Amino acid sequence: MKKLIEDVTCAGCYCACDDIQVTIDGQQILEVQTTCSQGQAWFERAGETDQLVPRIQGKPVSQAAAIKQAVELIQQAQAPLVTGLSQSSTAAQRAAVALADQIGAVIDTGASAGTRALQQVGEATCTLGEVRSRADLIIYWGAADLLANARHRQTLETDSPEMTRKIIAIGEESARATDHADEFIAVEPQREIEVIWQLRSLLKGIALAGNEPVGITESQLQSLASQLKQSQYIVFFTGPEFKQGPLSHRKLEALSLLIREIQRERRCHSISVPASGETKGAEHVLAWQTGDAAAVNFAAGFPCYSPAEYQASRLLEQSEVDLCILTGGNPLAGLSAQALGNLKSVPSIVIGSTLPQDFQPEVFLPTGITGIQFPGSMYRYDGTPLPLRGFLPTVQNSEADVLKQISNSL
Ligand code: SF4
Repeated sequence: MKKLIEDVTCAGCYCACDDIQVTIDGQQILEVQTTCSQGQAWFERAGETDQLVPRIQGKPVSQAAAIKQAVELIQQAQAPLVTGLSQSSTAAQRAAVALADQIGAVIDTGASAGTRALQQVGEATCTLGEVRSRADLIIYWGAADLLANARHRQTLETDSPEMTRKIIAIGEESARATDHADEFIAVEPQREIEVIWQLRSLLKGIALAGNEPVGITESQLQSLASQLKQSQYIVFFTGPEFKQGPLSHRKLEALSLLIREIQRERRCHSISVPASGETKGAEHVLAWQTGDAAAVNFAAGFPCYSPAEYQASRLLEQSEVDLCILTGGNPLAGLSAQALGNLKSVPSIVIGSTLPQDFQPEVFLPTGITGIQFPGSMYRYDGTPLPLRGFLPTVQNSEADVLKQISNSL
């Protein structure tokens, strides 16, 4: 019998759209409405999870044998790394942190740059609901993909006739795309910190001392400063391109200082858009448990935080890992090419609802999908926790349960 389930949350990406309509027959999904193609693919994965079997070196084995092998690998490891965690439920992220703690591993959520900036100057943020209802100036800085996402734009649509809103896209010249923005401002990526400091000067009424602006044309700098002065509720979406480079935490710090100064007179916030491999949500869970949101090492028996040292990519690039435990829907995202190359030479355990392409771990432990086959919760990228529904049966365990099975077998 057909059944329509409304207001389902899609965990296909960090947007976590929670207005999806799914029609099921009790055993499988018949139709998914109001989702994008990426979300459609995420829901379609539910039809494949029951065919997955545990594997050791690619050969099918029982769940007990795969758990036993995973436990043996963990017991032999001196420097294990836990990473991935994207599209994972809060419960699974919590179980991954507990396992890392138990085995003395490094765990990384990929959010090091944002965390470093946050610790220095703090962050003024808001929810998407506030952006929709109040923002009269939205600035997408290095966030072209988010601006191009139709589901995101729908989320911010307001039906208030009094609301006037300006949308500005900022990025490097090659990312120029004004289809969905009222204005595009080209900024040289390596000059973004200077551009922010020049804006801070202009907003304080300090002239640039006869110097030409750097990284941006004078007319665009003046126009941006004037729009920041005129607007009452400003939101910056800082995207992956804004957070690139070794000094990305300094850029985030500079922007946070600018926002703090604007906040003295008007409302101004920023929302960080996760880069590939940055797991929005896991950093909250890691912060509850350890006090730090990324790059935590439990080897000493207590959590040690060092964002430059314990980044997953860096550890793999430097061959400082002898076992990698990868969890979540897309565990290899965000790893550099060198890290991926080195990953193939260390034993690995993959726990998830899909096996990454062109990668054979020592142990694969399949799971069902939380949000389709198991209930739970996840964080949207604006920090809002959302419920996940479980409406289809599966023969698989949840990701959290598999992680707990390993913990209990150690
Ligand atoms: S934009 Fe929305 S529907 Fe599309 S994958 Fe992301 S969460 Fe799912």
